[in-house]
Amino acid sequence: MEGGKPAGVRCVQLDAQNRCLLFASPLRPAVCGGLQPSSEMCGPSQAHAIRWLAALEQATSP
Ligand code: SF4
Repeated sequence: MEGGKPAGVRCVQLDAQNRCLLFASPLRPAVCGGLQPSSEMCGPSQAHAIRWLAALEQATSP
């Protein structure tokens, strides 16, 4: 996304099934590849993962 993706905003590169359209592309931002998933992050549901990411964004916001 031009200027970077703001926290809490759905990435424009997500398709209707929430898959990254840039996953295998060199255009995929390095920060995306640097965020390694874990069972703690993903949890049992999408709602859990969204809450975890929101907390991470809040904890690392300037
Ligand atoms: S991995 Fe990065 S580019 Fe792909 S959908 Fe997620 S935030 Fe967007």
